Amino acid sequence: MIKVIPVSERWVKDLLIWPLTPDGNYSVRSAYCMLMDEVSCQEPSTSSPEESQQVWKGIWKIWTPNRIFQFIWRATRDSLPTKLSLKARHLPVRDICELCGDFQETTLHSLWLCEHAQAVWKLDINFVPYYKKGFRSFFNLLEEVLCRGSTYHVALFSTMAWCLWQRRNRLRMSQSVWPLHEIGLGVVIRDGTGHVIATSSQKIRLPHFVETTEVLAALQAIVFAKELSVFKVVVEGDCLKAVQALKAREHCNTLYGTIIEDAHNQGASLQACHFQHVRRESNKLAHALARRAVLSADFDVWVEELPSDLEDVFLSVLSILAY
Ligand SMILES: [Zn+2]
Repeated sequence: MIKVIPVSERWVKDLLIWPLTPDGNYSVRSAYCMLMDEVSCQEPSTSSPEESQQVWKGIWKIWTPNRIFQFIWRATRDSLPTKLSLKARHLPVRDICELCGDFQETTLHSLWLCEHAQAVWKLDINFVPYYKKGFRSFFNLLEEVLCRGSTYHVALFSTMAWCLWQRRNRLRMSQSVWPLHEIGLGVVIRDGTGHVIATSSQKIRLPHFVETTEVLAALQAIVFAKELSVFKVVVEGDCLKAVQALKAREHCNTLYGTIIEDAHNQGASLQACHFQHVRRESNKLAHALARRAVLSADFDVWVEELPSDLEDVFLSVLSILAY
């Protein structure tokens, strides 16, 4: 986990950061919650009929697109076509997970216990405590998530589970998938009229927080603009939390705090450098470049042109900006 913490290129002092609060500062409340979680994780998971009812009611309230809701419903009913369930229906298949090759592929194994799934879940510190509890089924796991998690946390859990299932299906069909430990950064430099001056895409190790990726992209954008001799810069991003952290001038005591300071340092040598939050639709080209990065070279740059496969994305963004 330490390897994925981004390191500043400047000399900076070591800092103690508390990862269980949004601002990185220790609070008794967060420590109390962590200790209560530890105690509760050691208790066996049991469900009374009333608690089971709560799970089914809770599923209806999950805030996700319909296809993810349908997926969670099926996973909870144990009706996904896992290898074990196919074998139980007398189909001629081995019931072993194809990803790890070690265990029977149940719903819980595929979405939670498999080493491929754990590699994803354990990158998010909020999901790590759940691994201290032994769950008998995906139903029990979801029950725990619904019981402890916020609306956002439950939606994130559901979406990540769905992504893992999609990845598993693509691998079974021998289709390309994103590497588990990598993510892309996409940067688009435009002039004042919205036309593209240059773009870049870079592959990095998957960090702990979404905000880290956004802040790294902002830093890369500033450095790239300087290299292109663009000295008045407005850095746009669609992650509100990251943009707010970049706009705030006080020290940010988080895992990405040093990268924010790096961005401020680089920005200070420009004539002007501001940060601005934009809608995700306006940032589609940067996201397309980021997706492209994962499946291509470690670092790519295009000056006064675009990758030909992204020209349609550029035109659709131009129409949004014009609107
Ligand atoms: Zn497996």
